[in-house]
Amino acid sequence: MSKENEKIQQEADTVLVGNYSRNPVALVKGEGCRLWDADGREYLDFLAGIAVCALGHCHPAVTQAICRQAGELVHVSNLFYTGPQKELAELLVANTFADRVFFANSGAEANEAAIKLARIASGPGRYEVISLQGSFHGRTLATVAATGQTKFHQGFEPMPDGFSHAPFGNLVALDNMITDSTCAILCEPIQGESGVRPLAQEYLQGIKKLCDKHDLLLIFDEVQTGVGRTGTFFAYEQLGVTPDIMTVAKGLGNGLPIGAMLTTKELAAALVPGTHASTFGGNPVATAAAVATLKVMLADGFLAGVRERGQYFSEQLQALVPRYPHLLSGVRGVGMIWGLVLTEAGAARGAELVKKMLDRGYLINFAGNVALRFVPPLIVTTAEIDRLVAALAEVLALD
Ligand SMILES: *Cc1c(COP(=O)(O)O)cnc(C)c1O
Repeated sequence: MSKENEKIQQEADTVLVGNYSRNPVALVKGEGCRLWDADGREYLDFLAGIAVCALGHCHPAVTQAICRQAGELVHVSNLFYTGPQKELAELLVANTFADRVFFANSGAEANEAAIKLARIASGPGRYEVISLQGSFHGRTLATVAATGQTKFHQGFEPMPDGFSHAPFGNLVALDNMITDSTCAILCEPIQGESGVRPLAQEYLQGIKKLCDKHDLLLIFDEVQTGVGRTGTFFAYEQLGVTPDIMTVAKGLGNGLPIGAMLTTKELAAALVPGTHASTFGGNPVATAAAVATLKVMLADGFLAGVRERGQYFSEQLQALVPRYPHLLSGVRGVGMIWGLVLTEAGAARGAELVKKMLDRGYLINFAGNVALRFVPPLIVTTAEIDRLVAALAEVLALD
């Protein structure tokens, strides 16, 4: 930390709510996988704004789309149609199971829409959503109630009614929790915030079977795993399970705030005029940015490249595990979402390892108190992966 960073930090701390534990760094510029701080220091970004900047910082196609749209029309409200919103919905419908899209501004809002749809489409008396322990679904009151981690509830009780959390990986316990009030099961194909914890394919297929057996809706929260992050457009494509409702956000606008709830024509029919809305949802600039993002991502070879470099990344991470067995216990993830799982001794140093990486100019984070998480821009190169892994080996060797 030096002069300009320090100044911004000190001034910001006198005017911002202190709800984040921020690094003492003020970032001012980005390009591809690189970032620069206020003192001109360069960083290699393996966090991408937490799985957001999928095409890297300031991708020219996205920047151009934002600039062009900002000069045409920025906002009109959903009392009217706009071209970019229609075009984005067409792209999502053409490339997923869904036939209908509702736009919001964040992951939490997309999940709120999913929960409201599940309730209204299931009819009176069926309102309970079962999610999983260890899950993360957002910070609004309903989505925090859906989140299966009590540390996020503390101090905000009473939680809204109609949410319960099944123990991770246990289909029998889940089956036993289903009652006449249950309307949906909500889960992430990979729990990102709790340390990149994938749900096994058989487990997800078992959840789908329970939904069929009890006539429940299956909601996938693909806010983190969606939009190319796992090497396919959406994670569900690799799992042989199709949800009834899916939520999307982080990577969708390559940095512009946007969320979406995708569903079938039949279910969407329950959200008639007046039932749900968002002032900013589907805003022309955000949707134009998302259209540009998806066009790059869905072009031939892009996702195959993500899978290939993701595989390379996992091999490099895997090679570290036997070298530092006292700190590392394994690697999990797929595509370009990886967790380097720490031993108990390693986890005690998790925050410190992240700080040491930052000191060397590498942005990563420590997720769920168990794993170092790597969610770089999907365009990250093998040379950049090599640099990151070399720095990581250096930091691990210090302990
Ligand atoms: C980040 C995240 C959310 C919340 O998204 P916000 O845009 O912060 O509201 C919800 N679900 C999952 C799986 C996430 O990773």
